[in-house]
Amino acid sequence: MAIEFEFTPEHQALRESIRGFLQKEVAPGVGAMDASEQFPAASVRRMQEEGYFGVPVPEAYGGLGLGKVGYCILLEELGRVDASHGSIVGAHTSLGTTPLLYFGTEAQKERWLRPAAKGEKLLAFSLTEPGSGSDSGSLNTRAERSGDRFLLNGTKLYVTNGKEADTVVVLALTDPTLGPNGGVSAFLLDKGTPGFSVGRCEKKMGLHGTSTAELILEGVELGPEHLLGELGKGFSIAMTALDVGRVSLGAASLGALEAAAEGALRFAQERTQFGRPIVEYEAIQFKLADMAMHAQALRYLVYNAAARQDRMGIEPAKWSRVERAAKTREAAVVKCLASEWASAGIDEALQIHGGIGYIRGTPIERAYRDARIAQIFEGTNEIQRLVIARDLIARGF
Ligand SMILES: Cc1cc2nc3c(=O)[nH]c(=O)nc-3n(C[C@H](O)[C@H](O)[C@H](O)COP(=O)(O)OP(=O)(O)OC[C@H]3O[C@@H](n4cnc5c(N)ncnc54)[C@H](O)[C@@H]3O)c2cc1C
Repeated sequence: MAIEFEFTPEHQALRESIRGFLQKEVAPGVGAMDASEQFPAASVRRMQEEGYFGVPVPEAYGGLGLGKVGYCILLEELGRVDASHGSIVGAHTSLGTTPLLYFGTEAQKERWLRPAAKGEKLLAFSLTEPGSGSDSGSLNTRAERSGDRFLLNGTKLYVTNGKEADTVVVLALTDPTLGPNGGVSAFLLDKGTPGFSVGRCEKKMGLHGTSTAELILEGVELGPEHLLGELGKGFSIAMTALDVGRVSLGAASLGALEAAAEGALRFAQERTQFGRPIVEYEAIQFKLADMAMHAQALRYLVYNAAARQDRMGIEPAKWSRVERAAKTREAAVVKCLASEWASAGIDEALQIHGGIGYIRGTPIERAYRDARIAQIFEGTNEIQRLVIARDLIARGF
């Protein structure tokens, strides 16, 4: 097991450039975005122009070619500034570009991956349905085969970027007699395809800059070029993308924890009560120490997992069973711990702020609302614990 890790000069340069970009182009508008609950179209466009929507995609397909480590750097930095921007990039990159990169044909990569990596097109990923959440193999959306064409009918739920996306990776049932392994396939569905419409967009506790949309499929006809990967392999394609998503979500949670901890430290040094800065009280110091411990542990976990995914490469057919199992378990560990430690640390950071931490519009109040979802989406933390437990029963600790 590799536990040593060094960032390359390219990765360090990426972190510096993203940090500067986000402070200049994103941070100033985050408060207004949160209050207005509008998709941040202008800053997303600027991020697309800078190549930030294709960080892990190889240069041969229009990306920056900086791997999962580079991608986690991006997500960590986004997590420090704004979770909505992080989710928009994550839904597009982890869940949209990964299935194309790993499972697409060369023609599909040219048509859909290249413009997505270059920031010309936005992607989304749609697995969840009203009756199918954690039990993601129990889909009802049908893709009936007729010759080499498919007819899609059904309703999908909670799709991040669903309102704005140019193309959605949609999971649908191609053979209801088979279970998730064999009966589910992945499709590339373009905006404007007859029979495809965006339904209700949810009002949410946080992530106010993202759309969380219902997608309605009524007699959507797709040709064979829209089938992504092999027929019946959709569930495994989705799970492979989620392994990437869970590690990058861990990076975003790490960034949110770091920003909250730094803000709480600054506040505690400035705020005086009983004649002293509150940072001098041990009760406050212990909260800060817990945040620092968790952030340090997460840095190792996140980047070790990202480096493993980089080493494994982008050809799933070459992965051994053991490699796959280790990657999946590691992604579950990262996602679960990062989301829980971030929520707990942000809660304590808010506590350090006292009353002002509860006032609408402060960064810590927004961070508190934004952080909670990381324990729910990309597989709830109960499901992550099931994934970990199943693997340790099968393969040991
Ligand atoms: C803001 C937001 C954005 C999202 N973005 C996307 C997206 O882009 N694409 C997409 O496809 N989906 C997306 N989702 C959906 C998200 O992934 C699901 O909400 C999540 O997987 C949980 O499914 P559910 O809501 O149906 O909850 P349920 O599955 O109904 O779970 C309810 C509770 O039961 C628990 N539970 C369920 N089964 C078990 C079990 N076997 N053992 C123990 N506990 C169990 C769960 O952990 C949870 O606590 C998004 C959701 C939100 C809120």
